[in-house]
Amino acid sequence: MTTTKMTPDDYIAREEKFGAHNYHPLPVVLDKGEGIFVWDVEGKKYYDFLSAYSAVNQGHCHPRIINALTEQAQKLTLTSRAFYNSTLGEFEEYITNYFGYDKVLPMNTGAEADETALKLCRKWGYEKKGIPENEAKIIVCDGNFHGRTITIISMSTDPDAYKGFGPYTPGFVKIPYNDLDALAKELEDPNVAGFLVEPIQGEAGVYVPDEGYIKKAYEMCKEKNVLFIADEVQTGIARTGKLLACDHEDVRPDVLILGKAISGGVFPVSAVLADDDIMLVIKPGEHGSTYGGNPLAAKVAIAALDVIKDEKLADNAEKLGRIFRDEMKAVNSDMIEEVRGKGLLNAVVIKPKDGKTAWDVCVAMKDNGLIAKPTHDHIIRFAPPLVITEEQLRDAIKIIQETLAQF
Ligand SMILES: *Cc1c(COP(=O)(O)O)cnc(C)c1O
Repeated sequence: MTTTKMTPDDYIAREEKFGAHNYHPLPVVLDKGEGIFVWDVEGKKYYDFLSAYSAVNQGHCHPRIINALTEQAQKLTLTSRAFYNSTLGEFEEYITNYFGYDKVLPMNTGAEADETALKLCRKWGYEKKGIPENEAKIIVCDGNFHGRTITIISMSTDPDAYKGFGPYTPGFVKIPYNDLDALAKELEDPNVAGFLVEPIQGEAGVYVPDEGYIKKAYEMCKEKNVLFIADEVQTGIARTGKLLACDHEDVRPDVLILGKAISGGVFPVSAVLADDDIMLVIKPGEHGSTYGGNPLAAKVAIAALDVIKDEKLADNAEKLGRIFRDEMKAVNSDMIEEVRGKGLLNAVVIKPKDGKTAWDVCVAMKDNGLIAKPTHDHIIRFAPPLVITEEQLRDAIKIIQETLAQF
């Protein structure tokens, strides 16, 4: 198969044949990336408006991050946590200063970081809050997305995520998103240890809650001695126009969950941040991961976070996000039902026309040189790497406009 020239269909057929069918990709086979662009196997160039679900905020193959990766890769890649190494402490000091917490617990994927936060929250509930053993509850929101493990899908309200995978992990209470009354009611239960929330629901379709929701929810949690846990795996690291989406409301979560762009799309790195009174309830031997906090991850994450600050990507996301929403709202297309988002995390709700859906729009945009992906059938998320310039953004908007005009 490798000696003769393969067509895009050949690549797709090979994945279909040998790979599990747990994704439904857009029919484009990517081969190369640089900055905000990707190229397919035939050399066609595209604007990337997904950024690997906001993991590639710094742009594809950012030279500083790749340099950190290749330098460290030739020196030491993995020791496990059975021993100390010369890079982990550097990363821990760097990231705790960067986000302003006492401690960090490094993991690899977003789901693992969410699992870590849940374990931390439960243990804190028993040891610090005095909840009777095995009675701790954690409040979560309808429409949440926190990953794919059994415990995480036990919190999900999306049948695609949970159906057929039971029995489920108990201990979660589900309330509507953006509903402070529902939160107040559940917070009356003294066995509640934490409230886990996305400051903007990304996978659900970029749902931005009312202004003040996060702030008020945080204050209500404080009043009841309940941990406010923010899942910023998608919204964090400058995506929404501030370093963290919680920064928009000056909220400092008790437990902060990060992933995706913390490594600029180069290597799986995730992290949970908290202060000592919370983090130190987990003792040696009670949690961990073979690859968590490995030297490669440490160096890659430091470089990726450096890039965010040095290139002022939060400011760029804030400024260009406003332009994107203003321009998209001005587009004359009866397929656009709503434009919403914050910074460069935006979505357009598509009204189907003549049987054509958000999927068909995405396929047509791909043909015109811009890739994005529908979420939940009728919503298209637009989230380019944050290194995009205004000129490039306006060019991309033109592609979206022209594509919609074809329908
Ligand atoms: C993507 C995502 C996760 C899961 O991250 P993985 O690395 O895919 O496990 C968790 N929470 C949120 C908000 C996400 O967007």
